[in-house]
Amino acid sequence: MADMNDARAALKHYFGYDGFRPGQEPLIEAILQGRDALGVMPTGAGKSICYQIPAVLLGGLTVVVSPLVSLMADQVAGLEDNGIHAVYVNSTQSLEEQSAALAEAASGRCDAVYVAPERLGTQQFTNFAARNRIALLAIDEAHCVSQWGQDFRPAYLGIGDFIAGLPYRPVIAAFTATATERVRHDIVNLVGLRNPQVSVTGFDRTNLYFDVIKATPTAKRQWIERYVTARPDESGIIYCATRKETEALADDLRGRGIAAVCYHAGLPADERSRAQRDFVNDDAHVVVATNAFGMGIDKSNVRYVVHHNMPDSIEAYYQEAGRAGRDGEPARCTLLWSDGDITTRRRFIEMGSDNERLSADEAEIIRNRRRVLLDGMIGYCRTTDCLHRYITSYFGETDDTPCSGCSNCDSEFETVDVTKIAVAVSRCVHDVQVLLGLGENGRPRNLGAGKLTQILRGSDAQEMHDWRHLDSAPTYGSLRDVPAARIRDVISQMTSDGYLAVEDGKYQTITFGTRAAQTVRNDFHMVIKQVERPAGRDGESSYGGSSGPSRGTRSAVPEELSGTDAELFDRLRELRTEIAREIGKPPYIVFSDKSLRSMCELKPTDDDEFLEVNGVGQHKLELYGDRFLPVIRDFLA
Ligand code: ADP
Repeated sequence: MADMNDARAALKHYFGYDGFRPGQEPLIEAILQGRDALGVMPTGAGKSICYQIPAVLLGGLTVVVSPLVSLMADQVAGLEDNGIHAVYVNSTQSLEEQSAALAEAASGRCDAVYVAPERLGTQQFTNFAARNRIALLAIDEAHCVSQWGQDFRPAYLGIGDFIAGLPYRPVIAAFTATATERVRHDIVNLVGLRNPQVSVTGFDRTNLYFDVIKATPTAKRQWIERYVTARPDESGIIYCATRKETEALADDLRGRGIAAVCYHAGLPADERSRAQRDFVNDDAHVVVATNAFGMGIDKSNVRYVVHHNMPDSIEAYYQEAGRAGRDGEPARCTLLWSDGDITTRRRFIEMGSDNERLSADEAEIIRNRRRVLLDGMIGYCRTTDCLHRYITSYFGETDDTPCSGCSNCDSEFETVDVTKIAVAVSRCVHDVQVLLGLGENGRPRNLGAGKLTQILRGSDAQEMHDWRHLDSAPTYGSLRDVPAARIRDVISQMTSDGYLAVEDGKYQTITFGTRAAQTVRNDFHMVIKQVERPAGRDGESSYGGSSGPSRGTRSAVPEELSGTDAELFDRLRELRTEIAREIGKPPYIVFSDKSLRSMCELKPTDDDEFLEVNGVGQHKLELYGDRFLPVIRDFLA
């Protein structure tokens, strides 16, 4: 039986990597020992290797279930380039191609076969599975099995039946980037994992620099134009909330000479796949897209992801932003937001879902859930804490990791002391509970954020005087001079910080949170971010620019290659493009930017030295050593 020493040797041999990342080791070890596994790691953290290494080490075939057919060809191409023999079977192939692929999978020469979940239910595939020993069933994007996730795919529910129909039970390993407890629970139950090794890790992406900027729509547009034109050679994704915005912004960028493409679900299929292809092949540097873009994209050298609007949850944001820097090289994730984004998101939630089969109660449960998710997102925009830490603690990681780069820790904003306001808000919640008494459920009655604000500002609205004597509350009018928007901001921040909590009922009301007691302590202190930043300077102040704030040795700042190394990098990049054209595959499949950079640093001149390069395994050496080594030797001479 293969053990972890074999696994490490395979990692080096096939992938050219020196060690496992956190979380990979326990999962691979469990799988090799025949135990089920559940890996929860964000996009780019390295889930694939957790089943690819066992695929080569386990005797027998690994079946990889993956929801997006567009991803399969690239994944298989990537594996083949590393010397791992894999095939895929999907609907983009003719029937002959499908049979040929299955025959190849049955030949015993293949380590892995990629299929969409729908395929598991077909006669063709169940016959195949009955006759060939499947050692491992790896389920990618396993959250698709859960109706609590955003990407529910009914076909995932058939996985359990497929397993039950097999002559024997393979090891089953499920992977997802969605960490909520509910989704995890669904995966274990609906797929039928048995006592799985669960590993939740890697949510901190230390090579990503996080940046949050509040800006008006016009300022957002200007920021993006400046940012993108300042880095014409870098790949980036810009997410917009609407199709119209993506088209307008892409047009605008093209007008400025940027190779930008547009992507959204309303475009004809051929236009979409062309946009995707151009972006993946580095023919277009920027894709301006709605959230329809990305799930099938495995491009590792995306250097930035900009959000033109606030997404509706941290889950969604992190999945999209996480498409930056998958090669481990520094990349930047910027979120541009405005109060209008919050209003729009809230309106979407209140409009409800278009699912008519839901009862009123079910619809309300879903709305509540979405409100909670949105609050998490708003908290991210407003927090003054480290953005890395905000995200990792949101996903349930408890380790206090040091910040590896974010705009909050770089203190590009000013804070405002809102202690007085926060204390008044807290007292006002108390006043309301005293005035309104207990509800039918025996718990104190509360009011929503709007009413609290009215009380605090001493509103003259009739109901303040008529109803329950709200105007007799000791805090009535105590914040008369504070703008309503500021009070709302503070309430929102107090909710994210746990001083207050949102209670869902017919209306959302504000009650005390788990940290409420702290607000009455003498040393209680609270600041919020003064979020308005001059949008003008941010375009230039980003990494790599000279006018940016000093960021010390943070790893999210790319190591500038020295002049001569930069020249070598350009030559190697040209060669990579040339080879990619020859073999008809995307450049990043040949080598990642990280590998090219590593070549510039190590300047290998023979095979042994070439193997030292990050991402160079035995097979890549054989494929490309003869092409790259001469260029490096030439350069040195
Ligand atoms: P995920 O499936 O979680 O989105 P991938 O498996 O695609 O992420 O991995 C992202 C990138 O990280 C890939 O380029 C992969 O080769 C690389 N990678 C994975 N594991 C390691 C490792 N142990 N050391 C170095 N690079 C790794």
